Amino acid sequence: MRGEPALSEFARGGIEPLESSRDDFAGALRREQHTVKRALTDPTLFSGIGNAYSDEILHRAKLSPLAMTTKLSEAQVDALYDATRAVLSEWIERLRGEAFPEGVTAFREDFAVHGRYGKPCPVCGAPVQRIVFAENEANYCARCQTGGKLLADRSLSRVLKDDWPRTLEELEERRRR
Ligand SMILES: [Zn+2]
Repeated sequence: MRGEPALSEFARGGIEPLESSRDDFAGALRREQHTVKRALTDPTLFSGIGNAYSDEILHRAKLSPLAMTTKLSEAQVDALYDATRAVLSEWIERLRGEAFPEGVTAFREDFAVHGRYGKPCPVCGAPVQRIVFAENEANYCARCQTGGKLLADRSLSRVLKDDWPRTLEELEERRRR
């Protein structure tokens, strides 16, 4: 549908998360089979979330960035909807009155995980992890979001192959050695 004239609601772009019902949110989320990370940052599905806030939302919802949208349970969709609204509202509130020019969202000291690779998760203290994409990286906490499992990082796993640690415990064990 992309590239067609802007006739349908779909073509006008993504829904506004703060003005959408839970069902509209779920509909946009499950419209295509994507990872949640990709769905949240897809402007044709959701307006105004972007890379930084998607990391923060997924951390709040305790969901893996690589979970598939079509496989989410109703409870997970609820958690994602609530987390999206909470995180966006909090940041709107926090940024009110601040000089915050467009394009400077890349890093904030008070993000929980975004841009905080290797630093402690504010919830559980485990080091924040990352997955590197083409130009972006996703940050997440393995303990809070993936049951302690490290997500394969394409650039690193290519180098490390079978040597890539699969759990936080394994990674920590290796670092100790
Ligand atoms: Zn954590």
